[in-house]
Amino acid sequence: MELMRENAILVSKTLAVVGKAVAPGVTTNQLNRLAETYIRDNGAIPSFLGYDGFPAALCMSVNDTVVHGFPSDYVLKEGDILSVDCGTLYKGYNGDSAYTFAVGEVSAEVARLLAVTKESLYRGIAAAVAGARTGDIGHAVQSYCEAAGFSVVRELEGHGVGKEMHENPGIPNFGCRGKGAKLTAGMTICIEPMINMGSRSVYLANDGWAVKTVDHKPSAHFELTVAVRKGAPEVLSTFDFIEGRREL
Ligand code: MG
Ligand code: MG
Repeated sequence: MELMRENAILVSKTLAVVGKAVAPGVTTNQLNRLAETYIRDNGAIPSFLGYDGFPAALCMSVNDTVVHGFPSDYVLKEGDILSVDCGTLYKGYNGDSAYTFAVGEVSAEVARLLAVTKESLYRGIAAAVAGARTGDIGHAVQSYCEAAGFSVVRELEGHGVGKEMHENPGIPNFGCRGKGAKLTAGMTICIEPMINMGSRSVYLANDGWAVKTVDHKPSAHFELTVAVRKGAPEVLSTFDFIEGRREL
């Protein structure tokens, strides 16, 4: 568990390093290089690099790309959103978290998409207690996002995490209370709502990786790693470094 905590803090800090550099005029390749350097300087391995052939350290998903975008020479511009997903492997265990950054000023509706998606993650986390089921998490995320007028991507989900980056159980972002796999104390899981402004329909891009919205409206993605406990979960990764509540 201590190694899981260390990985979770490292991914949290890596996302903050990226976030500090997110600005109009920067390319996602530049951000990826920053992150990879930071991860390696901290003695860890970027676990996404080479995972099923994924070509980069981080996933960089702009605007209508939901997840799994490749970093590229794309130059970020004012009003874009950038979802950054980061994985680390350190001393045999995995860290995995994601954050969607606004590039400069974004429209009010896009800002609302980001706020609602992040809040839905915290609602999902609150449901992740020993004895609950994965459907309790999914229901918490889905009901909050759909009440806000947004839609839940169903083809992708959160997951257990530990020695492997992706372990059982799967953690869907939709579902029914009381259904799904039972959560037990000590399980470490990633909860990661992927929420679309428009339709929930997505497709796989020609590169075989990037998942994009069919209507090309924006999509947001926030992910934290949580240890299931009795009563209340222990949130292992944090957005505090990104949002300035803790110093890097
Ligand atoms: Mg992730
Ligand atoms: Mg994940």
